[in-house]
Amino acid sequence: MRTFEALESNVRLYSRSLPDVFSRARGSIMLTDSGREVIDFLSGAGALNYGHNNHEIKAAITEYLASDAIIHGLDMATPAKREFMETFDSVILRERGLQNYRFQFTGPTGANAVEAALKLSRKITGRQNVISFTHGYHGLSLGAASVTGGRLFRQASGVALSGATFMPYDGYLGPAVDPADYLRKVLRDESSGIDAPAAIIVETVQGEGGINVAGKEWLRSIQAISKDVGALFIVDDIQMGCGRTGEFFSFEFAGLSPDIVTMSKSLSGYGLPLSMLLIKEERDAWRPGEHTATFRGNNLALVSATAAINIYWRSRTFSQGVQRMGEVMRRRLEAIAFEHGNSFEVRGRGMALGFDCQFAEIAEAATRKAFEKGLIIERCGPGDQVIKFLPALTIDLETLNQGIDIFDAALAETMKQPE
Ligand SMILES: *Cc1c(COP(=O)(O)O)cnc(C)c1O
Repeated sequence: MRTFEALESNVRLYSRSLPDVFSRARGSIMLTDSGREVIDFLSGAGALNYGHNNHEIKAAITEYLASDAIIHGLDMATPAKREFMETFDSVILRERGLQNYRFQFTGPTGANAVEAALKLSRKITGRQNVISFTHGYHGLSLGAASVTGGRLFRQASGVALSGATFMPYDGYLGPAVDPADYLRKVLRDESSGIDAPAAIIVETVQGEGGINVAGKEWLRSIQAISKDVGALFIVDDIQMGCGRTGEFFSFEFAGLSPDIVTMSKSLSGYGLPLSMLLIKEERDAWRPGEHTATFRGNNLALVSATAAINIYWRSRTFSQGVQRMGEVMRRRLEAIAFEHGNSFEVRGRGMALGFDCQFAEIAEAATRKAFEKGLIIERCGPGDQVIKFLPALTIDLETLNQGIDIFDAALAETMKQPE
């Protein structure tokens, strides 16, 4: 680790909380330089939904590499891109009744997709304000950071972040209050002091924000309010999309049809960088080249993305499996929470679960001990007090149970000897 401490910037993060050198990985198991096997419940912060080095997806990109096909072509037309769009359109969109979306490939980060979504909304409406929600996370370039709640990130931007108004997320004000009522009221009220918004941007489950789960009714209200006030409705599905909550899109359960959907993280299916927007056809107001970047729609990533769809999304089996495994996880985590009295809370949807420890010290000690025992889990939430469980959606039951056993032991140790 000395090279990393001496040569890599202080900004490095995960090499601190997971102090080991990782050399190889397959599925849900990572191997360190010293030969230690570690179970991965972080999955690249949701970028590895189909596991590390997924063999079937690897076969598709190995073949593509060997054929000297186009890897980088700016946003030129290629067979790889054609096949991706046709497959995504027929297998994902049309199967779900989501017709007439166009694809915009952005720069490779999720943040760049968010930038594009905000720019397009402002261009269409001629308005500046964007509504985002408490504890929201949308990336850290300036536009994306402006709709991100975390103070650490906002201060690190170094300039005033303007153009966004934060409203309470579902549940923020307790179970008795529906924050959508407040949002509707201030947006309809010409004298509320809240400028008419270009867009409302929302995560259906807040990943970095602490696995906060929005309900179906609240999400539907937010979509209806967007329409009512002439704002675009953007769902940021960068972390919760691609099957994480049990369905391909995290908003399917609520029957939403967003104007714009941002996608990244697990979109390529292989941990390769790939980001895009889905834009409702009638909202595609861009002029050619208005939002561009050198690395857009990288062809190797499009090939792995197409393979992932063909392998996992042509039938309902995979989705049903994720929902079943999610239930197993939830039951086990709830049992662990129950063992320790009522101070812990388990929440989430599908295979995105959070274990709220209430105190950052407990979450820190439990994740540290878990790593010593061979499990990678990370913390999230406003005070880093929530432990996030994001195993690969392809994980087998035995490995899933092993990982949860390790967490159980790590938490028990933490609670026995608080530090
Ligand atoms: C990770 C994430 C982003 C930002 O993606 P980057 O690739 O890190 O820029 C945006 N929105 C959500 C919901 C995310 O989880």
